[in-house]
Amino acid sequence: MDNIKYGNIVDFVHMLIKTSYLGQENLQFVDATCGNGFDTLFLCDIAGDTGQVKGFDIQEQAIEKTKKLLQENTKYNNYEIIKDSHEFIGKYLNGEIHAALFNLGYLPSSDKRITTNPVTTVKALKNLLPYLKTNGKIYVTTYILHDEGRELKEVFDYLSSLNKSKYNIINIRLINKDNCPPEIFIIEKNA
Ligand code: SAH
Repeated sequence: MDNIKYGNIVDFVHMLIKTSYLGQENLQFVDATCGNGFDTLFLCDIAGDTGQVKGFDIQEQAIEKTKKLLQENTKYNNYEIIKDSHEFIGKYLNGEIHAALFNLGYLPSSDKRITTNPVTTVKALKNLLPYLKTNGKIYVTTYILHDEGRELKEVFDYLSSLNKSKYNIINIRLINKDNCPPEIFIIEKNA
């Protein structure tokens, strides 16, 4: 983490999460898009013995990859990996969460036609908000190339519409690249 590159979006999000949560007890995290499982693994290591991570994906391949990665790489038994769409996350939560992570788009090593979808992504965000603790955060990494920016625009429009005093919405993007790099959105819940 010492040599972190701000231009690497995944590292950037991990740095923010570490800064906010490392060393805290009883952390409750959600990985809304497990994919290859790297974010899930990262969250499990931050949550540690006293915390819990719930991971979601709709693809069997992603579920299997994530479980294998966790079994081989984390010493904690603090996770539950669920094969269901993140729009139904509420069914699986039993209390407030400190943070959730979305990494949208498609799974790089698999069928590129299976991507996250603006309608279900916005539903998932909407359904997660009531579970977010005061000062809790949702980190969303959005991609442009899989659908010509449609999902990013819908996420942007939805987040822009959220109550000004209840939430802070932050957008981080690289502005000098010409290959449509991903953008980060962060939702932070106020008291
Ligand atoms: N683009 C990222 C990886 C994204 S992986 C990168 O380059 O690192 C996105 C994951 O979201 C995929 O594994 C896909 O199966 C999953 N996904 C798609 N729709 C979903 C949904 N409705 N609920 C949960 N997971 C979903």
